[in-house]
Amino acid sequence: MSNQTVAKTRSGAWFYAILPLAVASGIFFIDTFTKLDIAIAVLYVVVVLVSAGFLNRKGVLAVGGICMFLAVLSYLIVHGNMEPGSPAIRCVISLCVIAITTFLTVTNQKATQELSSQAALLDLTHDAIFVRDMHDVITYWSAGAEELYGWRREEAIGRRATELLNTRFPIAREAIDEQLRSTDRWQGELGHRTRDGRELTVTSRWSLQRDERGRLVATMETNSDITEHKRAEDQLHQARSQLSHVNRVATLGELTASIAHEVNQPLAAVVTNGEACLRWLSRDEPELGEVQLSVERMISNGRRASEVVARLRALARKDVPQRVELDLNDIVDDVLPLVEREIFRHRIKLVVDLASPAPRVLGDRIQLQQVLLNLVVNAIQAMATTRNGPRTLTVVSNTRLDDSGGKIATLKVGDTGPGIAPEAADRLFTAFYTTKTDGMGMGLSICRSIIEAHGGRIAAAPRPEGGACFVLELPLLEGVHA
Ligand code: ADP
Repeated sequence: MSNQTVAKTRSGAWFYAILPLAVASGIFFIDTFTKLDIAIAVLYVVVVLVSAGFLNRKGVLAVGGICMFLAVLSYLIVHGNMEPGSPAIRCVISLCVIAITTFLTVTNQKATQELSSQAALLDLTHDAIFVRDMHDVITYWSAGAEELYGWRREEAIGRRATELLNTRFPIAREAIDEQLRSTDRWQGELGHRTRDGRELTVTSRWSLQRDERGRLVATMETNSDITEHKRAEDQLHQARSQLSHVNRVATLGELTASIAHEVNQPLAAVVTNGEACLRWLSRDEPELGEVQLSVERMISNGRRASEVVARLRALARKDVPQRVELDLNDIVDDVLPLVEREIFRHRIKLVVDLASPAPRVLGDRIQLQQVLLNLVVNAIQAMATTRNGPRTLTVVSNTRLDDSGGKIATLKVGDTGPGIAPEAADRLFTAFYTTKTDGMGMGLSICRSIIEAHGGRIAAAPRPEGGACFVLELPLLEGVHA
């Protein structure tokens, strides 16, 4: 409080102390020394009411007592030697009125004190709290709001909240108001601007106040500043996506032999068909039918090579994740050609069982390819270490209903490797957990964050017949396939 304000408050206190004294003296004078035949003493209630503004409970009771004493004193001075008559009745009425007023004032003072101490509690919280009426005009502004937004109470009260704070809503304001009216509550993230122009992100909780007839009165808004938290979250997200990209490129690096083969094979076929084509053409009577067949094979092999290159370029690119409608079987078809050579090199039998019609999901194609590629490469590497027994890689897509009747798309990758040790099961998906000498231990942890960001889950389980099985589940796109 400034010195000026303190001085003003002090002079105000003096004024309020002198005023009831002057009023009481005036009433006593009129009651005692004038011949008015009315219950002047009733006016002492004014003194009681004014004193409630600056005295506590005991003080108000004392003032009430003094007023009653003065009323009786006046009566005794003026009518003390007369027979009791109407002046005595007037005096009794005045005494009753003063007593009742004193009692009600003290009771009301207690309730007011309780209310104001409750309102003061709101100032203790670090959250910014304000109340606005149904026209969006601010009627209460807490100390936390002053601190967060930089607007003082007297500057904020009476202003429209949306204009003062330059509010940015996550959805249409009408939709928010509709939810508020139907449930009396709303919660979400808002953008606000402070007095000095800083942009804030806050979590905002709104509660609707109604009167006893259910009519809308006001909205209380409680806001907590999460700007820093949001910034850190964005940076974390960025770091994660960079890490995910590094992991993807590293996995592709492990597959160089396979990929080279995938591109080389169609190119070799183009050359072979080209040579055959020339031979058919150089005959005395060119075999045009055969020439056409060779050219068609050249085109299809060329396409295959360029598709593999396109797939690789997409996987190696650093793109912002996108959500599109996807066919889960297409993800399998995109990924398997990249590991075909590895499968062949390690003499692994590939069993693919894809659901028909294909389960459709909403997701990022490259990210889901990355997950499947990770699982398949892990499975191949796990089986590469086994000496005896069959080596089988199974990839199965399917759909199922969950416990609450929701439709789920599933993709299972099973192998006949050494399986997962029980003590490792809990740690598989944590970052940097690896049992490989050259492993990073990031693959499965990235797979989990990708799948969870898609609203799904991923789990690993040992297979009864030996080996491991990784299952990923994603929400199935409704109305496409049950
Ligand atoms: P990295 O492949 O770099 O080790 P991952 O996060 O992909 O990282 O895998 C973590 C660990 O999980 C592996 O080191 C391995 O011990 C285990 N693991 C993953 N897949 C399988 C599998 N199919 N069979 C057995 N163990 C597996």
